[in-house]
Amino acid sequence: MKIIEPTVEIEKVDYNKMMKNLERACRTCYRSEDKITEESYKTLLRNCINRGHESILEHEKITIRMICDIGVYKDLTRHRHASFSIESTRYCNYGKDKFDNQIKFIKPVNIEENTELYTEWKNSLEEIEKHYIKMVDLGATPDQMRMILPHSTAAEVTMTANIREWKHILSLRCTKHAHPAVEQVMIPLLIHLKNNMPEIFENIEYDEEFKKEKYAKLIV
Ligand SMILES: Cc1cc2nc3c(=O)[nH]c(=O)nc-3n(C[C@H](O)[C@H](O)[C@H](O)COP(=O)(O)OP(=O)(O)OC[C@H]3O[C@@H](n4cnc5c(N)ncnc54)[C@H](O)[C@@H]3O)c2cc1C
Repeated sequence: MKIIEPTVEIEKVDYNKMMKNLERACRTCYRSEDKITEESYKTLLRNCINRGHESILEHEKITIRMICDIGVYKDLTRHRHASFSIESTRYCNYGKDKFDNQIKFIKPVNIEENTELYTEWKNSLEEIEKHYIKMVDLGATPDQMRMILPHSTAAEVTMTANIREWKHILSLRCTKHAHPAVEQVMIPLLIHLKNNMPEIFENIEYDEEFKKEKYAKLIV
């Protein structure tokens, strides 16, 4: 068994170009393409967002690649306008050499290490892994073995959404009401987008009490 930290990787894109593409699409509505300047997208996008004219944000998308636990992707896959490709517990056999014959689990962000609670969490996963490997030895298929995998199991997830949907997802998933493991991956992503596309993401609030040292590592 291996305990790992979650990560979130964002594809390298030209954010200014993306915002200029959004402006170009938006100006179709007013046939005001002649008003395009180097900086004109900034005011235009802010004005549209303030008026709720948000469908223009659907013309560009962002893809991320996460390593997170099953609980996190269970929550995120509820967002119907996003697209997902997720490591399959039906096809991946963690008892094989390819997976080092072990299950990877995500270190829980809401259980402190070196506590009795953490030991209990870890012991239960060790027990599950023991039974998983025993099932492999008995010739079980991943379809059968996945029945005993818990929420903490690590998975790779590729997630794509258009900018409008990302705004919506991040506004729901970076607050205190979201699960801490979801906040852990979504807050660093939101901060990255606020820095690179302020005109679009600046008004989305996040749980500022969530400890920075617990943010998932962001890979650009
Ligand atoms: C803090 C929190 C707690 C939650 N707890 C639970 C829970 O206990 N149990 C549970 O089952 N779920 C729970 N959820 C999931 C939640 O109910 C939504 O399913 C999830 O957040 C997806 O949000 P959404 O429907 O707004 O967004 P998306 O699916 O991302 O859709 C975006 C927007 O499109 C529109 N839209 C999409 N589909 C439709 C439709 N069919 N009809 C009309 N408009 C549509 C809506 O305006 C929607 O906001 C929770 C979510 C959060 C953030």
